[in-house]
Amino acid sequence: MTQSKKFDVAIVGAGFAGMYALHHFHSLGFSCQVFETADGVGGTWYWNRYPGARCDVDSLEYSYQFSDELQQEWNWSEKYAPQSEILEYANHVADRFDLRENIQFNTRIIAMHWNENSDSWVLESNLGENFNAKFVVMATGCLSKPHTPIFPGIESFTGTILHTSSWPHRPVSFVGKNVGIIGTGSSGVQSIPIIAEEAKSLTVFQRTPCYSIPARNRLMDKEYEEKVKASYSKFRQENAKLNAAISNNPNNQSAMEVDAEERLKTYEQRWQSGGLPFLAAFNDLNLNKESNNTAVDFIHRKIKETVKNPEVANSLCPDTVVGCKRLCVDTNYYETYNRENVKLVDVSATPIEEIINDGLRTSITKYNFDTLIFATGFDAMTGALLSIDIRGLDGQTLKDKWQDGPKNYLGLTINGFPNLFTITGPGSPSVLANMIVAIEQHVEWVGGCLSYLRENSLICIEASEEAEQTWVNRVNKISGKTLYTTGCNSWYLGANIPGKPRIFMPFLGYPNYVTECKRVAEETYEGFLLSPQASDPKPYAKT
Ligand code: FAD
Ligand code: NAP
Repeated sequence: MTQSKKFDVAIVGAGFAGMYALHHFHSLGFSCQVFETADGVGGTWYWNRYPGARCDVDSLEYSYQFSDELQQEWNWSEKYAPQSEILEYANHVADRFDLRENIQFNTRIIAMHWNENSDSWVLESNLGENFNAKFVVMATGCLSKPHTPIFPGIESFTGTILHTSSWPHRPVSFVGKNVGIIGTGSSGVQSIPIIAEEAKSLTVFQRTPCYSIPARNRLMDKEYEEKVKASYSKFRQENAKLNAAISNNPNNQSAMEVDAEERLKTYEQRWQSGGLPFLAAFNDLNLNKESNNTAVDFIHRKIKETVKNPEVANSLCPDTVVGCKRLCVDTNYYETYNRENVKLVDVSATPIEEIINDGLRTSITKYNFDTLIFATGFDAMTGALLSIDIRGLDGQTLKDKWQDGPKNYLGLTINGFPNLFTITGPGSPSVLANMIVAIEQHVEWVGGCLSYLRENSLICIEASEEAEQTWVNRVNKISGKTLYTTGCNSWYLGANIPGKPRIFMPFLGYPNYVTECKRVAEETYEGFLLSPQASDPKPYAKT
């Protein structure tokens, strides 16, 4: 039998989290190996190649800050960089920091079992290989397991089927095609206007309308870029003090504190400057339904002003709380419904019942097309983790442990699963923050923790049951005060996946979260069980 390869740290995933984890842990002297299903780096930006895919956090912020040289030398072409450029950036980082030699591509980790005799993890890949690691860092992504609803008859469809999150690597032409698209979340909203320009016809199947704010994307403002780069680290520090670690110019007034005219002016300014900062127009939009209604009314009015057909405009107006589902950011989304070749089909009351050979059938009508696109999202936050057969102490599976929803400590570690870290795990700010900022914070916290263990000859770290329960309560208590839990059915709640427990997963408030992580580390890892048992007398192989 061949000896399995051994590492200090195995990292699963080579998106922005896995890449930085590899670089950072290497710099601390740990031997590391990354495993990645894809044949390249970039994660989200490797997979989501649909037309119009781009970030909706300013590129000057949606980028790494760990290397000042990197952030100074890289130039983004637009305010919101397109997918191809973000992927180019990921590849540049991989080359610049020599990451590729420690990334095993085309390798899916299918199982990970804790071995109590050796105090280490045994990982198994889809290629039948085994690996041994003292620590495992899950960098598997929050939005990396695509969700495709199960419709009967799908196998009978004779045309092309695509999913926005696993888009082909070759160009896809829609010229002369009749296209059907299911889903109007961020991916649908970004791709619909571009596909509509090319296709012969586009039929959009909408179950729930979204709220979308114009991106006002533009070429990079060189003066602004220079200003940011002149004091980049200060700019980053200031942003990190904000709730989502995004420069959204928060207004500290309640929407109810100002009169109607002032409110309208504020919303109009935010609408004209565009993007996610719309939600920071007032400080209580996610707390107070009455305040939220004022934003809802404003957006409804904008939709009705833009979309010429009043029936279509009405169908596009959501009746839920704005910001409760992830806000969408678009270029010409609502305008697209004025095109002759675009049809909106509301499938909320008359759901899609089956896919047929040349289209689909709802409960009342048949629609024909030759290309079907799923823009139906992800099994978010827990999907990628639970796709792996993870077993901790006493063979307990993570699936069993999380059957009623994810439970962990700081969103980073799980009781019963020693030496396992989840980057941007549920219970951390993750998807409710600028994710690259959240990734760097997590990776650096884990790096600090691994160094502490090494310095103190400790082999195992595990969240205590009590700390875990206190953390879960805290996450729920914070979200319970907001409209996130009552205002809609979102993927933050797991509500988009049939049968998934309905639990609000992210931790709200990046700055408080960072403070807590720092405090825990300073209090010599309060809430953790640390143990010095060692089966391996030389557990740390220096690189
Ligand atoms: P990912 O990029 O998802 O990478 C995870 C990697 O792990 C993938 O490559 C996957 O193949 C691999 N993997 C998973 N399971 C296994 C396994 N078992 N074995 C081996 N490999 C595995 N966030 C923002 O903050 N701002 C934005 O503007 C923004 N835009 C987005 C646009 C789109 C279209 C999507 C889908 C998400 C967007 N996000 C955005 C969120 C985005 O996912 C994060 O910003 C970030 O890219 C996540 O990086 P990651 O490395 O944590 O995960
Ligand atoms: P999503 O927001 O979950 O949207 C999925 C869409 O598919 C929803 O409209 C959903 O309708 C619909 N759908 C799912 N199952 C359906 C069914 N059985 N019948 C009809 N419709 C169905 O997924 P996403 O658009 O891929 O975005 C996911 C997240 O990725 C975003 O929220 C964001 O965080 C990130 N993202 C960001 C950007 C960006 O702008 N930077 C772009 C893309 C993605 P219901 O609402 O009724 O469930």
